[in-house]
Amino acid sequence: MKNVYVNTIGCQMNVYDSELMIKILKPLGYVQIDSIKKADLIIINTCSIREKAAEKTFSYLGRIAQAKKEKPDQIVVVTGCVAQNLGKEITRRAPYVDIVLGTRVLGRLPEYVKKVSEKRDRIIDIEMTEGFDEIKGYEEPKETKVSKFVTIMRGCDNYCNYCVVPYVRGREISREPESIINEIKSLIDGGTKEITLLGQNVNSYGLKENLCSFPELLHKIKNIDGLERIRFATSHPKDLSDNLIEAFKNIDKLCDNFHLPVQSGSNNVLKGMNRKYTREIYIERIIKLRSVRPDISITSDIIVGFPGESEEDFNDTLLLLKEIEFDSLFAFKYSDRSVAPASKFKNKIEEDVKTDRLARLNELQNEISKKKNIIYEERVEKVLVESLSKRQSTEISEDIKLKQWMGRTSSNKIVNFNHTEDDLIGRTIEVKIEKARANSLWGISTN
Ligand code: SF4
Repeated sequence: MKNVYVNTIGCQMNVYDSELMIKILKPLGYVQIDSIKKADLIIINTCSIREKAAEKTFSYLGRIAQAKKEKPDQIVVVTGCVAQNLGKEITRRAPYVDIVLGTRVLGRLPEYVKKVSEKRDRIIDIEMTEGFDEIKGYEEPKETKVSKFVTIMRGCDNYCNYCVVPYVRGREISREPESIINEIKSLIDGGTKEITLLGQNVNSYGLKENLCSFPELLHKIKNIDGLERIRFATSHPKDLSDNLIEAFKNIDKLCDNFHLPVQSGSNNVLKGMNRKYTREIYIERIIKLRSVRPDISITSDIIVGFPGESEEDFNDTLLLLKEIEFDSLFAFKYSDRSVAPASKFKNKIEEDVKTDRLARLNELQNEISKKKNIIYEERVEKVLVESLSKRQSTEISEDIKLKQWMGRTSSNKIVNFNHTEDDLIGRTIEVKIEKARANSLWGISTN
């Protein structure tokens, strides 16, 4: 038996890819551990979305160099967006890295690990393959989580001016529906109840390859026995079709949540970002979604301080927050990404202005999020239980011990509640919400 340590940085796609790498390494005898020192194989799955991604990767690799001094036969793999972007530069600056693996060739990992362990060699493979890199030859582990990610497409064709994804993940490519369905069935057999379909822009799934549209894929998936909930991420507002909105009317398993990144409430900024929609189109899509699913929670992403964003532009974003009333937001200050076109834009915003705008935006959103959560008080919600809460139990008396559980509503709100039962994981429990907190709800079970 050999040990593999994986450090995953970044988005859900990377979480999915890391799990996939662990599964395909299993036939070589690797099991996952959480100690760098004891690992025979170390994988760093990097992300370029974060600021100073390359510097952070090299600083982390410095720690690995220390571990490798004590265990020189350790194999070190760097993969993900930074690996794709920097390629050879990684081994030049960190010569103890054995394998640099691009985002489109993960399936080659076992072959490369075998090669390096037999004959110490260095492998750099950042080939941008054309088709969907269908990875076969692995089994789902016996114990699967209640909620799992399933990748349905890779790459992106949209070229938003601030984003590196099209450069480091390649052009958009969709996976065959049969393959997606088979993976979901195998997860369900292992105990999964909820899946999140992943892609950079799931709304355009299958169109380029003429497979089937995203709403059609949802209709195929909804019939899988044992699957209780379907989520997806991420969507591009310009591709949010009427058919997808209609799916929220017809598919009960689709959860009451839509993550629709708006990025800015100003048409000037949206144009500068190359987002190809206006605030008016965005608002119209949300109104339509709410007309078919009045309880749907809407979440979004915002970038503040994009080059050229004036105070008036920023105010348009604040007004949009008030108009839409998002349930929650992921808001970030704009920062340059070397390969993205906006890094060359001239009219950059001062750091203190960006900081001030982000604080104002978060303050407004906190008020809105609180207001949206308070609506849940006194309601009975169906909660799919994922795990024990961090605070695990409360002793009421010598005989009664209440365990504290954590799950999610269909609208993706985290709910903590007490229950006497020993194992609720994977069950859907009715919970009466007693208290709304800023980022979660607290309740008592009614069954
Ligand atoms: S849609 Fe835009 S922001 Fe999203 S991954 Fe593609 S280029 Fe990046």
